[in-house]
Amino acid sequence: MLWALAFLPIFLSITWLYALHSASSAPSGLNITLLIAHPDDEAMFFAPTLLALAPHNNIHVLCLSTGDADGLGSIRQQELKESCKLLGIDDVDVIDDPELPDSMGVTWPADKIGSILDKYAGKAGVVLTFDQGGVSGHVNHRSLYHGAKEWTKKGGKRLWNLETLGLVRKYGFTMDAFVAPAQAASGMRFVSGMEGVRKAQRAMTDAHKSQMRWFRWGWIGLSRYMVVNDVKEISV
Ligand SMILES: [Zn+2]
Repeated sequence: MLWALAFLPIFLSITWLYALHSASSAPSGLNITLLIAHPDDEAMFFAPTLLALAPHNNIHVLCLSTGDADGLGSIRQQELKESCKLLGIDDVDVIDDPELPDSMGVTWPADKIGSILDKYAGKAGVVLTFDQGGVSGHVNHRSLYHGAKEWTKKGGKRLWNLETLGLVRKYGFTMDAFVAPAQAASGMRFVSGMEGVRKAQRAMTDAHKSQMRWFRWGWIGLSRYMVVNDVKEISV
């Protein structure tokens, strides 16, 4: 058993290198709105994508709540801006609207999401957001998929979704690199190197300080979403 543990760092290094080798080249020259539900979604889920895209595209982060479930909304808005700066993004809007509460029990109305996109994302050619699984399954995340899908369809925009993985792959860092099929032509895989993973971790530990409870350490140390993102363009 011990020999297996000793082998783990070597195995992870090999799979990480393999994942880096399978990464897509980043598109460039696009106006992209990242649509998120809560401050910290950008760092916990989308960091590899943002780090790959930010140097070559105009990225705007649109967060549809202040993350006020625990009464920390005003702190968390500021944390989001600091986190985005660490990830190379200055253009950030945070919405504070009673129809869009930070709540596991409230599905956000698609037409409301559409009206906010009308107001804040008119310049966007691409909307990037969660897929229908919402990565963590949070109902606010899943609402974004439906709202963005309707809006992009109506406005002739492109829709990119971050793929939701099962539990084992979610916490498996790069361990699925050999078995996960390469993304199809419609898909993109963004992979961070050591420096990118450290940046994403710092976005959590140094910016989103109010969210660094004990269980987050497991996520920032082990999650595949801190190092690899699979993003698919959805035909709407
Ligand atoms: Zn969230």
